[in-house]
Amino acid sequence: NRINIAIDGPAGAGKSTIARMVAGQLNYIYIDTGAMYRAVTLAAQRAKVASSDEAALEQLLKKIQITLLPGDEGQLVWMNDEDVTGAIRKHEVTEQVSYYAAQRVVREVLSQWQRELAATKGVVMDGRDIGTAVLPSAELKIFLTASVSERASRRFKQLKPHEQMDLETLEKSIATRDELDKQRDISPLVQAEDAILLDSTGKSIDEVVQEVVNLGRC
Ligand code: C5P
Repeated sequence: NRINIAIDGPAGAGKSTIARMVAGQLNYIYIDTGAMYRAVTLAAQRAKVASSDEAALEQLLKKIQITLLPGDEGQLVWMNDEDVTGAIRKHEVTEQVSYYAAQRVVREVLSQWQRELAATKGVVMDGRDIGTAVLPSAELKIFLTASVSERASRRFKQLKPHEQMDLETLEKSIATRDELDKQRDISPLVQAEDAILLDSTGKSIDEVVQEVVNLGRC
């Protein structure tokens, strides 16, 4: 009996790693919705479309197709005929994505795509508003969190050489992004009433994965 699993939470809580591993164990499809918001942000930056320009964003959204593919080291993200997996993780995108993600037209279009991807049960979807807005009837909802210092130090360890920044700057950038995501008007980052709160502070990845898999099996 396949179900849909929604995993939401703040930046750097380990959602994508956990979601991908849970999907692997259950033989489900993993969908990283943050990657979709990042891809739209990248497209807008290249086209010099400001986040406040709803009409131009609407036109832009009509021209892009985002494809998520499984890869060896995580999910590959394609936009039209280009592999943007690396480009969407760049600092310039990370700093701006929350502004584009706050726009109604962006949320409407991406939520629609996400619902279509989950139409056949057996999906693990991670994001900010999956349990509250995208898939409110998901059978299992997890709100995954960890202390901001733990989230920052985990991200710090994953930084590539060209992305280096100090831990304090990184922690500030994560906190700012969480604040923007919590305070936006449409589908803000908040725990769904029927979501299970999982605090991963001090827990290993495998422990958390096992907890979610067990919940998904019963
Ligand atoms: O998950 P990730 O950190 O890559 O997400 C990047 C940004 O995309 C978030 O900070 C948030 O602004 C936006 N986002 C969102 N809703 C989602 C997933 C991501 O608003 N479901």
